Amino acid sequence: MHNQKVALVTGANKGIGLQIAKELAARGFTVLVGSRDLGRGEAAAKTIAGDARALALDVTDAKSIAAAAEQIQNELGRLDVLVNNAAIAQVATPSMSFANTSFEEMLKAKRPSVGSVAEVRAVFETNVFGVIAVTQAMLPLLREAPAARIVNVSSEVGSLTKQTDPSYPYRSIQSISYVPSKTALNAITVAFANELETTHIKVNAACPGFTATDLNNFRGTRSVQEGAREPVRLALLGPDGPTGTFSNDDGAIPW
Ligand code: NAP
Repeated sequence: MHNQKVALVTGANKGIGLQIAKELAARGFTVLVGSRDLGRGEAAAKTIAGDARALALDVTDAKSIAAAAEQIQNELGRLDVLVNNAAIAQVATPSMSFANTSFEEMLKAKRPSVGSVAEVRAVFETNVFGVIAVTQAMLPLLREAPAARIVNVSSEVGSLTKQTDPSYPYRSIQSISYVPSKTALNAITVAFANELETTHIKVNAACPGFTATDLNNFRGTRSVQEGAREPVRLALLGPDGPTGTFSNDDGAIPW
């Protein structure tokens, strides 16, 4: 068995996931840089100081998930941390991409009254079903680890408490796909945490805050270093840390 702790970060070839990978590698983890395109994962792994290795992983592809779990078992024999970070906010098409559509126009097209059901399905496939499938595939390895941690990278916009508060500033993001996908991810976090509460595996959800990445065409106001802070803290929780929580780097977020 590999003698360093091993962390898998999904969608780690760029953005907040790459920063989470960098920080876990800096703390001595062997980091698996999950990437649906192996070449992009390898390029990203080269930018990480420490032991970082690209791992082909498309969270919407059952074969890819099974192959990734098998590869981890065969090559390292352990997994201590799983960060479910990969997500999409939309399905880019030639007519609807940041190359030719403003952020505001993109948001308008996702309103509940007009958002495409096909896009809702695609977003849930990645942000929700992908998390369930990857977590289930990695659980046998995580159960063997002495103190495993699962971090689901969620978003405050998925908070029903926030969304029903008229003073919530991000209530203007009325996406019928991304926003409900994060509400579902929160529910999934609680479901896994409840089932695993008698084990040594802690399962928590983190919001990175509005961070400048490809996801929002770099409109976010926080750096990836700031965005990675809470997911990394939850990945490193000690034995007295909580499970089944939702937080950002200011503290608890209401569900
Ligand atoms: P990003 O820069 O767009 O990165 C998203 C990552 O997910 C990319 O590596 C992407 O890979 C990967 N991905 C997408 N679909 C995938 C699939 N099917 N299989 C595997 N990987 C896939 O976005 P980000 O802002 O860093 O987002 C990271 C997390 O933070 C997400 O969960 C997001 O919802 C959450 N978040 C972000 C913000 C924000 O303001 N940025 C706010 C709240 C929450 P490709 O390069 O192949 O597309």
